[in-house]
Amino acid sequence: MAARKPLIAGNWKMFGRGADLGEIAALAERVGAVADKVGALICPPTAYVQSAAWQARGKPVAIGAQDCSAVGDDSARTGEVSAAMLADAGATYVIVGHSERRTQHGETNDMVRRKAEAVLAAGMTPIVCVGETRAERDAGRVGEIIRAQVRDSVPLAATGVVVAYEPVWCIGGDRTPSLSEIGEVHTLIRDVLTERFGAQASAMRILYGGAVNPTNAGEIFTVDGVDGALVGRASLKAADFSAIVLAHPAAS
Ligand code: PEP
Repeated sequence: MAARKPLIAGNWKMFGRGADLGEIAALAERVGAVADKVGALICPPTAYVQSAAWQARGKPVAIGAQDCSAVGDDSARTGEVSAAMLADAGATYVIVGHSERRTQHGETNDMVRRKAEAVLAAGMTPIVCVGETRAERDAGRVGEIIRAQVRDSVPLAATGVVVAYEPVWCIGGDRTPSLSEIGEVHTLIRDVLTERFGAQASAMRILYGGAVNPTNAGEIFTVDGVDGALVGRASLKAADFSAIVLAHPAAS
């Protein structure tokens, strides 16, 4: 199996102010010693991406965005931000298809795929989110939902994509699936990627996201096929987020 460098990505959502960007330097300080073994990424609100990238200059923390326009070309789209602008501002990753975008903004798999394509065209790495609702899990539809989301949201010709498995019923809560349930979905995602990309799929990272915190991160990282985490609440403070980065077995 190809070696995959773990990635711990923080999604600040619509939280924080400019003053909170100081957390980036504090994070860099705490995770610098393991930076060659475990990657740390912070995705602040769009308004702060450029300042965050300045704060992170020369430090072992990458900066990403939480969304972008599906349209790559400069055009008349009030309120939209293109992938090229985010790259210009210093982002190297963009989260696309987060469940909050899918539910609150009606984003479809097709839209998510076009956003991921725009991110790739701008020279960055998309983090494509997929995940089932509680009702879908209870109805035994996890495989069907995840398979369709990966098939239709991940660009056709690109292995430079990170996939994040984020069960919707865990985001913002205090529950996670069992370790075996996480493992089953990660195996399924890798199978779908392998059907499409063949051996190259073994280099693609698949993150787990949903209620990850400093207490449960270590055991989640032991699950075969989990290449890191996408973290919401516990990414806002350097103390918590660095504890998650350092909980990865590759860090020790
Ligand atoms: C998320 O929003 O992607 C997320 C995983 O949130 P939390 O870690 O707060 O559950």
